Amino acid sequence: MAKGILERLAEGVVLGDGGYIIELEQRGHVIAGPFTPEVAITHPEAIRELHYEMKHAGAEVLQVMAFYGSREKLATVGFGDRIMEINQAATRIAREIAGGDILVAGDLSTTWKWAEGTDSAEFVAEMFDEQLEAQAGVDFVIGELFFHLGEALLCLSRIKSKTNLPAMITMSFRETNRSDDGFTVAECAKRLHDAGADIIGLNCMNDPQRMYPHIQEMRAAFDGYLAAQPVAFRCTDDTPWFTGLPSFPDRLEPTQLTRYEMGEFATRAKEMGVNYIGGCCGCKSTHIREMAKALGKYSEQSRWQAQLDAPMSETEHSWDRRHQT
Ligand SMILES: [Zn+2]
Repeated sequence: MAKGILERLAEGVVLGDGGYIIELEQRGHVIAGPFTPEVAITHPEAIRELHYEMKHAGAEVLQVMAFYGSREKLATVGFGDRIMEINQAATRIAREIAGGDILVAGDLSTTWKWAEGTDSAEFVAEMFDEQLEAQAGVDFVIGELFFHLGEALLCLSRIKSKTNLPAMITMSFRETNRSDDGFTVAECAKRLHDAGADIIGLNCMNDPQRMYPHIQEMRAAFDGYLAAQPVAFRCTDDTPWFTGLPSFPDRLEPTQLTRYEMGEFATRAKEMGVNYIGGCCGCKSTHIREMAKALGKYSEQSRWQAQLDAPMSETEHSWDRRHQT
């Protein structure tokens, strides 16, 4: 039996995968705006292909493509009653591509139905439970994109009561280093750690530059496995989160980071003590491959030879000049 995520983390850094939902939108399979995962039943081959690319690039974990796959979120695009089918299909596809050697992580994400001080907890818990049931058979579970610590803690408690699996919980920050319910990055990490999360970290919203301060704050706050999955879309100091930029959601292409920038992120994150390193929105398989190289995890011969004297078009140009008589 393959080693579990905690055993792998005990041995060294684990490379996660990149972002799916925006990539699938750009490939024409997901609606920009709602960003829901009905693609698992409408175009399963698109997810299969993207998982395959991530694995081929060196990802050691495939995350089930069930992002925003809760009942209420799926209802916004008319797929609320197909929640089980969608989550089951996404899980099956991830397992099929992962095979026996890499891990499959279940995926839960913010429901947008959490409201502090109301009776929303029971309602949100039911939605998490439904997804956990549909994603049976995964190796561990990631709960991601939480803006409220309260919802993140509830997600953790549902994972722990419904499964015996390790739980990775990641928070997301926009304008400030505080969650929408008022906790600092450090407090979020500490409370999730005290509540029994196995891996705690940050995902989405910030690019690497804007995520480093949060990483530093979390690393100092608790002693345990830390995860970081930034976006590969350039943010600004004024707007440190990509969904706040005018380029979101459908003009993101010119803001894409290069593969080398994400490779540098992997190196620096490792130096900062991050244990689980991956990418979120905008992080393509190209970026994951460069991250795998940076972490010494890429064994295949690169097809792009950076040591060539000149890019191919220039070579051809020179050849033509040399042979002009
Ligand atoms: Zn993201």
